[in-house]
Amino acid sequence: MPPEPMPSAPPWSGPGQWPQANQALLILADNPACAPARALARELAAARRALAPAMERLCAATCPRCLDPCCVRARLWWGFADLAFLHLAELPLPLRQMAYAPGGACPHLGPHGCHLARELRPWVCDWHLCPEQKLRLGQWDEAERRELLEGLERARGLRKSMADALMEGVG
Ligand code: SF4
Ligand code: SF4
Repeated sequence: MPPEPMPSAPPWSGPGQWPQANQALLILADNPACAPARALARELAAARRALAPAMERLCAATCPRCLDPCCVRARLWWGFADLAFLHLAELPLPLRQMAYAPGGACPHLGPHGCHLARELRPWVCDWHLCPEQKLRLGQWDEAERRELLEGLERARGLRKSMADALMEGVG
């Protein structure tokens, strides 16, 4: 599912690493020099929330009949920008790094789909449209399709700006 290459093992998945990583990010996000990154993270959260209705509509039209669901097949986890975003935007934090039982689905997949609010999911869950979704999107009204694609691009840009601002803030 994710279009980006992923590291071979989830970051901060060893004993004690998750709380350590979150403590470091908590301090970082509170740094006055990170104010621009915090503002961008809040904008990104709003942009992702605004995308949710269209994304839900697209998923409702494709996912229930999917024969190879990405949330079962894919292996993804919280990366640095995902976790930093949650801290900077003051959103609820995951209790642990994602872990998969052998052959198991994403731990956030419930009987009715993902149980995380859109803006709390790893970014790739919004960003990556599968072939079936792209096909379906092609059948949408031009203005609706453009609105969704532009919204995704805008969120992608905000995420990059947020990560850059964070690096500048601590550099
Ligand atoms: S996003 Fe695509 S691959 Fe994933 S469950 Fe929905 S239809 Fe299937
Ligand atoms: S976080 Fe949600 S959308 Fe993303 S892979 Fe897991 S169940 Fe699917």
